[in-house]
Amino acid sequence: MAQSATQNQHAAPALLDFARQGAVYDGLMNTLRQGSFVHAYLISGGAGLGKRTLAALMAQYLVCTGTDKPCGQCAACVQAREGNHPDIILVRPGEPINPRVDRGLKSIPVDEIRQVNELAGRHTFEGGRRVVIIQSAHQMTTQAQNALLKTLEEPMPGTVFLLVTDAPELLLTTIVSRCRALKLHPWPDETILAALKARGVAEGRARETLPLCGGSIGRAISMAADEAYWQRRQEVMRDFFGLESRSEILRVSGVWKERRDAAAELLDDVEELIRALLLVRLGQREASAVSEYPEAWQRMAREGGISAFASLMDAVSQARRLRASQVTWQAVVEKLLLRLMEEKSKWSM
Ligand SMILES: [Zn+2]
Repeated sequence: MAQSATQNQHAAPALLDFARQGAVYDGLMNTLRQGSFVHAYLISGGAGLGKRTLAALMAQYLVCTGTDKPCGQCAACVQAREGNHPDIILVRPGEPINPRVDRGLKSIPVDEIRQVNELAGRHTFEGGRRVVIIQSAHQMTTQAQNALLKTLEEPMPGTVFLLVTDAPELLLTTIVSRCRALKLHPWPDETILAALKARGVAEGRARETLPLCGGSIGRAISMAADEAYWQRRQEVMRDFFGLESRSEILRVSGVWKERRDAAAELLDDVEELIRALLLVRLGQREASAVSEYPEAWQRMAREGGISAFASLMDAVSQARRLRASQVTWQAVVEKLLLRLMEEKSKWSM
């Protein structure tokens, strides 16, 4: 028991973890160390890449009163980590700091930013820096963005804005141009594997998660833990890629006929399983990524022509189109099964 508890423990993320982001990290750390940081940063990149984590760590760095920042030990670091530092203001849709703003709003309205501006105009509680983190910054209404722009144009000394978004194109260009860009990139495979391993995910599942997570550590962690997904994927592998003869098609389509509510997920699964084979063929994944497939498919991953993979992908697209038309779901499944069966038989010895 003690051992598994240790395995599941993982160190809290640290700024140094972002070193694998390369130039983005080097540039940021230089400005932080030299104290030459700007008054507004725009942290962007796809979902699950660690944008909010980076913002939180930067905020901790900026308020830390220790020498080796962020020291993790001083009162400011502890408060920052626990989310109750008085000079770190967190703005996000649905959890307004302005009590007059409706909590049901999906956007960040102008009243919320007015409140931020008012706070930013006051002295800090602790006498140090103030950090304003705006999560989902693209959810600011145009009016809110214009209100923020005024503050960014005349920054208060000691106040740093961290705008976090995965859709920077929805921000006013005047806001973007006032910010230093920090764009996070997909993480390398080894980093994701290490993060999954630190959370007790088995090696095999960790490797299977890699092609599905698009370089996102956040997505990898949630996907690896999604038991319903892995259960369905195993069934899809068995029923769609393990089919031995035409005589089984009717039986299998009969099973999936009953699962019409999972039709979209099923087609996504089939597509992902084909894509994994293609990535091995292209040399972008190791052969071990498809070791659970029946031997015929593994052979295709080694020797198949690219056009054969494209044709399988087309079959999935066609299934999506047919599903949207008048064709019965069972007929769609049968057609797809038949196509996979044909391809598999080419690679069976
Ligand atoms: Zn500290």
